[in-house]
Amino acid sequence: MSEEYKKVVQEVVETFGKDKTRLMDIARGVHARTGHLSEDIVGAIAEALGCHRVEVRDMASFFAFFAREPKGKTTVRLCNAVVERMKGADDVAKAFEEAVGARFGETCPDGAISLEHTPCMGMSDQAPAAMVNGKVLTNIRPDDVRGIVEAVRSGTLHEHTASSIDEVETNLRQAGSVVFAPFERGAALRKALGMTPEDVINEMNKSRVRGRGGAGFPLAMKWDFCRKAKGDAHYVICNADEGEPGTFKDRVIMTERADLMFEGMTIAGYAVGAKEGFLYLRGEYEYLLAHLEQELAKRRRMGLLGENVCGCEGFDFDIRIQMGAGAYICGEESALIESLEGKRGAPRDRPPFPVQKGYLGQPTTVNNVETLCCAARIIECGADWFAAIGTKDSTGTKLLSVAGDCDAPGVYEVEYGITLEALLEMVGGENAQGVQIGGPSGQCVAPKDFGRSICFEDLPTGGSTIVFGPERDLLECMDGFLEFFAEESCGWCAPCRAGTSILRMQFDKILKGRGTADDLKKLEEIGNTMKTMSRCGLGQTAANPVLTTLRDFPALYDARTRDEQFVPAFDIKDAMREACAITGQKPHDLEE
Ligand code: SF4
Repeated sequence: MSEEYKKVVQEVVETFGKDKTRLMDIARGVHARTGHLSEDIVGAIAEALGCHRVEVRDMASFFAFFAREPKGKTTVRLCNAVVERMKGADDVAKAFEEAVGARFGETCPDGAISLEHTPCMGMSDQAPAAMVNGKVLTNIRPDDVRGIVEAVRSGTLHEHTASSIDEVETNLRQAGSVVFAPFERGAALRKALGMTPEDVINEMNKSRVRGRGGAGFPLAMKWDFCRKAKGDAHYVICNADEGEPGTFKDRVIMTERADLMFEGMTIAGYAVGAKEGFLYLRGEYEYLLAHLEQELAKRRRMGLLGENVCGCEGFDFDIRIQMGAGAYICGEESALIESLEGKRGAPRDRPPFPVQKGYLGQPTTVNNVETLCCAARIIECGADWFAAIGTKDSTGTKLLSVAGDCDAPGVYEVEYGITLEALLEMVGGENAQGVQIGGPSGQCVAPKDFGRSICFEDLPTGGSTIVFGPERDLLECMDGFLEFFAEESCGWCAPCRAGTSILRMQFDKILKGRGTADDLKKLEEIGNTMKTMSRCGLGQTAANPVLTTLRDFPALYDARTRDEQFVPAFDIKDAMREACAITGQKPHDLEE
């Protein structure tokens, strides 16, 4: 390893006080300067930290944004999630391959540019999108690509205007009465500090607010468990790692209402007895980092963070931002905590739950961005005000990220209880053949159920809402979701690791028209096994795209299956055609 790299490692490790729990930041810091984390660099980091290289390798090899070998000077990461493909990402990918002179997964011969695909970047309302060394490009058209590549090569990407560089649109289509209502900085926090922590938790209880991440756990219970759990310290974590394909509402909150989110975190700190909070920000949102740091600095200057917050003697609280590095599973709270501790982001066994033993083994509350915004507004306007919005078991409003085949994709703040029909009218997607609610891990809803309501009692959702128009090949879209889960499985348990791949192979047989009724039964069996035997939510929900469409869109499967008893999955002629397409050869002697 070069002397230069050794020096980089030393400097970065020292910047973080040789603290092994800061391994994510150390790896990010080194990677930013070396462009990769080779085995030599991994060894040097381990030596500087005084730990085994396996620990560093384990973490470095887990995250998609860490290259293990030198790559091009610039990496273009094009999002190839389902919505992005619906909006033409495949054509954009071809244009990049032509302009760069390399295929995806490769680096061009002069070493200037590497091309990579990436799963949902949280830009589905302005797809296709890509990241270029942390910068975000949205609404890319194939015609833009040559100009983008020239700008990358000449180092003038920031001047490039053919696509919206660094101009991520907010697309807030409807502001509701809770999260996006006018907000006075510090008002809720001062009110909370005039109450006892127990009263703050009681107020949450009275409001009946539930977690907005999807599972809907009552917030008051979580804070109460955390407050009462014994530990040397308590922690607050705001989960801003929204990675569910099709979701981007936290991005919009952090753009428009970061202050409200930080206010909610500080109130959470007071309620559970924490001095330290972490905002775990997904790597794809790095472009928001400077803005968020500025908001934190402003709050420190105003006495809303730091020692004796708002003059409240003995209540010290501050927030640190932890960047992620491209792993969907880190949205799962225990995986997120592992990553925050400097390890690979694999989910933990539960119990104990994070409220008992979370960050560094101490009681930790992990809350969603939107939930913390609600908490601040509940203190500001009162539990009764909040509880009067929405439905009996789903109080308040919900932010929905709407994308896909509709006229007005973006974020909508709606009251819980809104029907899907009313939502589709609002977004201009009335002729949908189906709507994916709650992202790939949720369910695909058929038109016969468009009268159903979005709320915990009926159609629960974390916010991702993907509209599929009448012309869309719905099963192709489901295949994209299966591919996503197979890629993102952390591999810890066999039902998920093997199940996601087997399910996809079996589904492929149906897609290619070679499946039978028996194959559909097998699909269901595999899906149900994954549901019951996987260790965490990813594996337990990874078969939902298949299971919910099998149930509600049977005609789509009937149209693609054969009457025979058995049809082999492998077809030599199809395989030859595919091989020819990949190698660019002309198929011959293949009868139709
Ligand atoms: Fe990892 Fe999947 Fe098992 Fe979860 S279910 S622990 S993601 S392998």
